[in-house]
Formats: sequence, structure tokens, C-alpha cells
Amino acid sequence: MKKRRRRRWVVKAGSNMVCSGGPLLARAWMQQLGALKREHGVEVIWVTSGAIASATERTHFLPKGKRTLSEKQALSAIGQPLVMDLYNLALQTTGMLGAQVLLTYDDLSNRERRSNFANTLEQLLKWDVTPILNENDAVATEEIKFGDNDSLSAKIAAVMKAERLIILTDVEGLYDSDPRRNPSAELVHSLARVTPKLLAQTGSHSGSSRGTGGMYSKLKAAREAGLKGIETWLVKGDLPHVLTRVADDEIVGTRIRVTRAR
Ligand code: GLU
Repeated sequence: MKKRRRRRWVVKAGSNMVCSGGPLLARAWMQQLGALKREHGVEVIWVTSGAIASATERTHFLPKGKRTLSEKQALSAIGQPLVMDLYNLALQTTGMLGAQVLLTYDDLSNRERRSNFANTLEQLLKWDVTPILNENDAVATEEIKFGDNDSLSAKIAAVMKAERLIILTDVEGLYDSDPRRNPSAELVHSLARVTPKLLAQTGSHSGSSRGTGGMYSKLKAAREAGLKGIETWLVKGDLPHVLTRVADDEIVGTRIRVTRAR
């Protein structure tokens, strides 16, 4: 059989998707990873959010209300093993193995730590083990304050020389206007690049109900990835076979081509 060219993707799952999808969706995702590897020669580095949101759902003993930053950090420490339980269970049913890697922006900007990080991931991928990454929220707060791991996943994609960044979210993709206000808003299937103008129009206030991301941080991540020659796909995480459909280049969600100029 002809040997396929190895392809590498970074796939990021947002807090809303992880929490509302639960074990069934996690299992569907992990099964798709198996198919991606077998049928498309794609290896995946998985970035997940959902630690804080998972813990929030389990800590009914805490008084309701807005959480402080340190409370969110503490919640992340409660929720991270819960999120890994979800993935480990899903991986078990597919006969695959996962590995938890928690990291911070500092880890990626420090040359030695970045290279240690990359070596660990390369080794895991060589062993066919799926790296499952999240920000180490107990010691860093960049993504809690703003981002839901969108920007972190773009940086990881660049360090690991990924071909695509797939952002699994709870909306269909990017619309030409706000679909909550305009019922005739249309989904943008393909975008040449994310311009600073588009970013400014999107506005940084758009967060989701569980994570801190929203469309702005996704487009910002897509721009960052595009400048490094990485294509970004914004897709609804619970569409059936979404990842294998992306591998087939089907028209699904919003495909953001590679940015060369501003
Ligand atoms: N790393 C955070 C988590 O896993 C990000 C979520 C957020 O944006 O609040 O919960």
C-alpha cells in the first residue's frame, strides 16, 4: 500500500462543547481521531477547555455568582481531572491512549521549555498516543481572562508545525452578521484571511455562556495561525463526523485560508 504523507492538526474543543456534549460527544470525537489516522494519515494534537465549566457544574455547595480569578483557578484544578476522565473513558472505548499536558504561554515563549514541550509531544505522537492539552490555569491566567484556549491552540499549532487548526465550537461558524439579531445572517463558508478590520468589527466582547472565547478570540487565533501558514476551520463541534468531513475538505463551517498579507 502507498504510504500516506503524514499530516498534523491541532483540534481545540471549547468549554461549551465539552460540557454540553459530555461522554457521548467525547467518544464520537475520539472515534473520529482513529478514522483520521487510518483513513487520512492525520495525527491530532487535542487542546481542550472545560475544566472550569466542569467544576462549576459539580460545586453546587459554592454560593452562586461571578467567580474571582483565584476561584476560577481553583475550579480549574477541580475540573481538569474531570475533563481527563471524560477523554480517557472515550479513548478506552476506541483502544487508544491519551496523555495530559498542561502548559502556559511562558512555556511556549521560553526557548528551552518550548523545545522540551515539542519533544514530549513528538514522542507521544510517535507512540500513537493522543496529547490532550489545556492551559495550566492553576499557575497562569491568560486564557481564563480571555480566550477559552483559542490563542493558545494557535500558538501550539505554530510550534508543532501543524497544517490545520480546527476549532470546535457551539456555533456553525462565522456569519456575515450577528445571527442572534439578524435572522437572515448567512454563514461564511470560506474566508481568504482575517483582516484587522474584520477583527475590529467582531469586537472582543463576544464570550460564550461557559468559556471566555467567543468569535473574536477565534478569529484572532485564525489570524495568528494564518500568518504562520496554518489554515483554520471554525466548525460546530457536535456535527456528525465533523472532523472526517473537514479531512475530506467538505464545505462545513468556516474555512479560513492562509494569510500572506495584512
Ligand atoms: N483553560 C480554561 C478551562 O479549561 C479555559 C476556559 C475559559 O475560557 O474560561 O476551563
